[in-house]
Amino acid sequence: MKVKSLVLPIIAALAVSLPAFAADKKHDPSDHKHEKKVAGPNGGRIIATVEPRAEFFVTTDRKVQITFLDKAGKAIAPADQIVTVTTGDRSAPKVLTFAKAGNTLLSTAAIPAGDELPTVVQIKAGPTGKTITAKFNLDLSKCGECKLAEYACTCASH
Ligand SMILES: [Zn+2]
Repeated sequence: MKVKSLVLPIIAALAVSLPAFAADKKHDPSDHKHEKKVAGPNGGRIIATVEPRAEFFVTTDRKVQITFLDKAGKAIAPADQIVTVTTGDRSAPKVLTFAKAGNTLLSTAAIPAGDELPTVVQIKAGPTGKTITAKFNLDLSKCGECKLAEYACTCASH
């Protein structure tokens, strides 16, 4: 009886503390990092509202390259996503369509001239999937801090 009376409170204490510990672990502040702004593998802009995430990148010949990324940020082959990019002057925007190019989707035409292009990216998950829309200003000038193009800038101040 003497042993039991000693052990029982310990078990009771464990039973109480274990779930509490599990709950603490779940809400560990170190697990709860604010998502850091990161550039894509090519130095492009991450579109995180689509699953899998996509990198929007303007190539040297001013084509738009879309690369889908796994959770670790590695390029994965596109599935059946249908991407449309509408960019350029709002009165006469250019609509870009895409074709598979290796592990990426590449626009079949170049973006219009200029380095401040209002841009709408639509990514449809597949022929019957829903469409995610991302809108941003495609600013191709270089950021002095992170050396990326402004549209892909990862600096906290932006
Ligand atoms: Zn920057």
